[in-house]
Amino acid sequence: MDRFTDKTALVTGAGSGIGRATAERLASEGANVVVSDIDDDRGEDVVASIEADGGSATFVSANVADSEAVQRVVEVAIDTYGSLDIAHNNAGILTGFQDITDIDEDDWEQLIGINLKGVWAGMKAELPVMEEQGGGVIVNTASEAGLVGMGGLGNYVASKHGVVGLTKTAAIEYANRDVRVNAIAPGPTETNIQETMASGSDPRELPFDTSAMSDVPMGRNADPAEMASVVAFLCSEDASFVTGVTIPVDGGQAAD
Ligand code: NAD
Repeated sequence: MDRFTDKTALVTGAGSGIGRATAERLASEGANVVVSDIDDDRGEDVVASIEADGGSATFVSANVADSEAVQRVVEVAIDTYGSLDIAHNNAGILTGFQDITDIDEDDWEQLIGINLKGVWAGMKAELPVMEEQGGGVIVNTASEAGLVGMGGLGNYVASKHGVVGLTKTAAIEYANRDVRVNAIAPGPTETNIQETMASGSDPRELPFDTSAMSDVPMGRNADPAEMASVVAFLCSEDASFVTGVTIPVDGGQAAD
């Protein structure tokens, strides 16, 4: 398939995991990809991988919690490739597994700043550009934690429920301006996200066998490529009448 020839795609958190898989998938279908991440080495590595496969990509370092930095990423996309057609606002972290009463205020603010404000900052920069050029499509990364509560993940759950709500709101605001806005809600996916948690909060040390995190009817974790294929569908004309939804990509977890 070559659904994104001559399109420009921006992916945040593209240095690893779901973002990397999406950047590579969109590039493999013809998009010019702006790979953005706070981790320069990982981001540059993704660009090298895309170029080695014959694709086109540019790395832009940015912290999504900094709205001016996100604005600059969008400007680089326009300056480099002439448009911004697709955006995947994906960067996110976990700070650890703690009851609400034990969440540290700094952890609360850091996580909400990246996972929720970062998605708002992305859309704030992307939506006007897409409207002005005549259309575009945005996919945000939510989570199963955006659909149900999960004990021990209060700040993460709050951030991801916020992403679902922002997605619906942006979809309504731009429905008649040719910009579609959707989200994916990944179930457990084999990525590096546990690296971002504070030391001492390794979930493998916690009794999570009864939590939604480990309760996947299909009985396995996802490969990041299984997220990327759904993001690519939502970004494509195959999803031309889909806006404002959050699609669980979770091996049946949300149905259980
Ligand atoms: P990951 O850690 O493998 O990748 C996340 C990337 O985001 C990393 O490259 C990291 O450097 C980058 N990043 C972190 N903070 C950033 C910041 N402030 N600014 C810019 N980039 C930043 O993790 P992942 O699992 O691929 O996570 C991607 C998204 O998927 C996140 O929003 C996460 O909440 C969501 N998610 C993951 C899972 C899972 O099981 N892995 C499940 C549901 C949702």
